[in-house]
Amino acid sequence: MEGKINLLDLTVEEIQQLMVDLKQEKFRAKQIYQWVNKGIKDLDEMTNLSKSLREALGNVSTIRKLKIKHKLVSKIDGTTKYLFELEDGNIIESVLMVYKHGLTVCISSQLGCKMGCGFCASTGLGFIRDLTPGEILDQVLTIQTDAGKRVGNIVIMGIGEPLDNYDNIVKFLKLVNHPEGLNIGYRHVSLSTCGLVPEILKLSRENMPITLSISLHAPNDAIRGEIMPVNKKYSIDKIIEACKIYTEVTKRRITFEYAMISGLNDSRENALELARRIKGMLCHVNLIPINAIESASYKKSERRNIDQFREILEKYGIEATVRRELGADINAACGQLRRSMIANEERIKKNEEI
Ligand code: SAH
Repeated sequence: MEGKINLLDLTVEEIQQLMVDLKQEKFRAKQIYQWVNKGIKDLDEMTNLSKSLREALGNVSTIRKLKIKHKLVSKIDGTTKYLFELEDGNIIESVLMVYKHGLTVCISSQLGCKMGCGFCASTGLGFIRDLTPGEILDQVLTIQTDAGKRVGNIVIMGIGEPLDNYDNIVKFLKLVNHPEGLNIGYRHVSLSTCGLVPEILKLSRENMPITLSISLHAPNDAIRGEIMPVNKKYSIDKIIEACKIYTEVTKRRITFEYAMISGLNDSRENALELARRIKGMLCHVNLIPINAIESASYKKSERRNIDQFREILEKYGIEATVRRELGADINAACGQLRRSMIANEERIKKNEEI
């Protein structure tokens, strides 16, 4: 299997080229793409292709599927957390959220993350590698097959910094949007970034009007620099400038994510400073009571601070919502499951009790 092309990684045009290379009819590419995007596990499931074509295809390619290693379903709201095993044994996580308007899947973009945000559970685990477009796509396909229902929305907010894996993410967006594939409209995709300015600008020119979420989390560079090392490279002003260009080009409203941390970024002054900075922008603020993680001492803001913060933003004409916490009973937030699973496995290896 080593060295073979993963069909999940290929666009229709690339499969067409593969057909040319294999001296096959070009129109077969569309059929192959359709099969792969139905979530089939094996080339032999492509029943409208001849055996000889399947064999020729099998000599050079394979469908490298994710294995469901673990699945946790929330008793509170049906949120389901999936742990997937990749071919190389590494583990990634994705979350299925069930809303009235349909299914949303939250996917990971990298194995680990390089960004080092102080409050994030992914940070302590380091960075292993980028995920391929097919590995990103297969999170959606496998969950859709498992749920037996169409996935309508995608949020790229799992582990990893998607814009640090730019080319693979853009290719994934093309794959998932393709009419012969999952056919999910760009407007139904949200991408969350810690604010890599050159990539935000590049994305604005891709003609892919996805919703951009910026993990802002602070009203000024001093506070942001304390919790997000990336701020040393790209200041808030630079990010806001890039966001304005993004909204101008794509006409899409930006979301600013703001994790509320008690005593650090949740005061009246902090809200006023943020409001002055972003007022008048085509934007929306999502206030997230921070999830406490073991390795850091950050605590959730009090409810009254969160409400006060929201009211101040609204006074400045900025729409703000407080994020509902889903899957609270299954560690569904922010890298927590992968982390506890890895910790468990290490304990199992050491023969300790879990
Ligand atoms: N790297 C991307 C996407 C991954 S994180 C980004 O930075 O946006 C997805 C979101 O979860 C980000 O807004 C991130 O800041 C937030 N997040 C991470 N750890 C968190 C925690 N402990 N509590 C609440 N939100 C957290």
